[in-house]
Amino acid sequence: MFTPGERVLLALSGGKDSYVLLDLVKEVHDVGKIGIVTIVEGVEGYNRVDDIAWIEDAARSYGLDLHLTSFKEFAGLSLDELVSLDKSREVGTSPCTYCGVLRRRIINYYARTLGYDKVLTAHNLDDEVQTYVMNLLRGDKGRLVQNHPLSPTLSKYFVKRVKPLRKIYEWETTAYALMRGYKFQVTECPYIRFRPTLRAIIRDHLYEIERLKPGSLIRILETVDRYIETELLRWVSQLSELPQCSMCGSPTAYGRNTCVMCDLLGKIGISTRLLF
Ligand code: SF4
Repeated sequence: MFTPGERVLLALSGGKDSYVLLDLVKEVHDVGKIGIVTIVEGVEGYNRVDDIAWIEDAARSYGLDLHLTSFKEFAGLSLDELVSLDKSREVGTSPCTYCGVLRRRIINYYARTLGYDKVLTAHNLDDEVQTYVMNLLRGDKGRLVQNHPLSPTLSKYFVKRVKPLRKIYEWETTAYALMRGYKFQVTECPYIRFRPTLRAIIRDHLYEIERLKPGSLIRILETVDRYIETELLRWVSQLSELPQCSMCGSPTAYGRNTCVMCDLLGKIGISTRLLF
C-alpha cells in the first residue's frame, strides 16, 4: 500500500470518509511525510466551509502540509460556471463528469509537481464495487484493472493511487466517524441527482442486493480482485507507456490523440494548454 519512507498525499474532500482516512493514516505513518490536497469545486449552496475548516484545523494541529485549491484557480472557472457554459452551448455533459475529471487531474498535478510518492483517496467498499460493476457493464478491461491495488500506473506522469478504505463498508466509515465525534455536513451537493448517472443506478441496485444478501459487496470486490490477479495483471504489465495528449501533454488512453479533460473543456471553449 505505502511504505514508511514514502511521502503520501491525502486527497480529502472533507466528508466523513476523508475524516476516517486522515484519522487512520496519521496513526500509522510519519506525519512529516503526509500532505493533504483539498479542492473547492465552486457550487453555490453547497457549504464546504465547515469541511475545509476541519481539514485546516487538522493540518495545523498535526503539522501536515495542506494544499488548498479550487477549480477556479486551476481551470479558471468554478464548477457552476462550467455547468452554465455547458448549458449555454447545449453540450449536455453531466456536472459530475466535469467534477470527476478535473478533480483527478488536479490531484495528480499536485502529487507529481510536489514530489509525492503515492496519492491516498478515501474511496470505500461501496464506491469500489460500483466502479467495478460500471467497468464490467462497459466491458472496459483497461479501466477494470486500474482499480486493483497492484495495477501499474502505465505512465511516468501518473502518481500511484492507493485506497486504504476500499474493503470497508460505507456504513462502517459512517459509524467510525460518528463515534469519533465527526460533525456531518447537512447540505448535499445539488448536482448529485441532477442527472441519473450509471453509477447512481448501480448504487441503488447494489444496496438492494446487499440488503437481501448481506456481504454481497465484499464478495463482489474480492471475486473481481481475484479475477484481475489471475487474468489481467500480467496482461496490463506488458502494455507500453500511455500516449500523451497532443493538447496538454497529459497521459491519455491508447488510441486517443487528446485526453478526456481537453475534449470536455474544448467543447465549451476553454483552452487547456497550461493545465498539466
Ligand atoms: Fe462533484 Fe457530482 Fe459529487 Fe457534486 S455530486 S461533488 S458535482 S461528483
